[in-house]
Amino acid sequence: MRLKKGLLISAIATAGMLVLGGCASGGEEEPATPVKEKVEFEAGTTMAELNEAGKITIGTKFDQPLFGLAGLEGSPEGFDVEMGIMIAAELGISEENIEWVETVSANREPFIQNGTVDLVIATYTINDKRKEVIDFAGPYYNAGQDLLVLAGNPENVEGPEDLADLDVCTVTGSTSFVNISEYKTKSIIQTDAYGSCLEPLRTGAADVLTTDNVILAGLAAQNEGEFEVVGNPFTEEPYGIGLAKGDDAFRTWINDLLEASFEDGRWVKAWEATAGTVLKTPEPPAVNRY
Ligand code: GLU
Repeated sequence: MRLKKGLLISAIATAGMLVLGGCASGGEEEPATPVKEKVEFEAGTTMAELNEAGKITIGTKFDQPLFGLAGLEGSPEGFDVEMGIMIAAELGISEENIEWVETVSANREPFIQNGTVDLVIATYTINDKRKEVIDFAGPYYNAGQDLLVLAGNPENVEGPEDLADLDVCTVTGSTSFVNISEYKTKSIIQTDAYGSCLEPLRTGAADVLTTDNVILAGLAAQNEGEFEVVGNPFTEEPYGIGLAKGDDAFRTWINDLLEASFEDGRWVKAWEATAGTVLKTPEPPAVNRY
């Protein structure tokens, strides 16, 4: 986990232990997730392979404030990134040995299937269609689809039933697109990243951006005063950690880790350092060991 320098004192006091080093972002922030030094995994498992390799490749979003946002240098930051750092640490892999690969909504399954990444942690909704080709650990967070409009909500948009005369922007390969397609709209504009919907909103080419409430909250916070989240989520989007289909040992191991982190405070700390700067702290979800 990355903590601002000012928080280090209390982190040391409460955790009693802090592993330094591996700060990829130029010294401003320090990781506080202790990397497991001597871990043993059953031979032949993905955990053993990754531990042996000493590195892991994780797909995440690079343009979603609060969950996965890459700056000009260093690693991306956000709650998804913190989940990845926690998993790596438990595998004995330090932060600087995580290779972050940008995934957009549409390439997440292919990147897992063709081995471009070991894991995808990218505001990634667990659903049956995706489970036909990959598997999910989690959920580690429950989001819900919502709407974003220019501040002032000029069209009186309260929910997806109010979009019949409006142009709606969203992203290809997302559940947001699939879900909104069930409602009447004037048009659906598809892009490859949610941030690309902001300019069309500004120019009036689009009236509404739709995706998960927490992604919208991040974009609204990044552009203070300009946009507003309608605040009536109309779907359930349980966020999972995508991994190769059939790797049940890895999936179970990640599920065990998630549950442990819900109990021992790591999950809450990861939240508070990232999404929690804008959103209130939720209850941890129930892991779904399907
Ligand atoms: N959670 C939804 C999905 O997995 C929307 C957000 C996204 O595209 O990352 O499709």
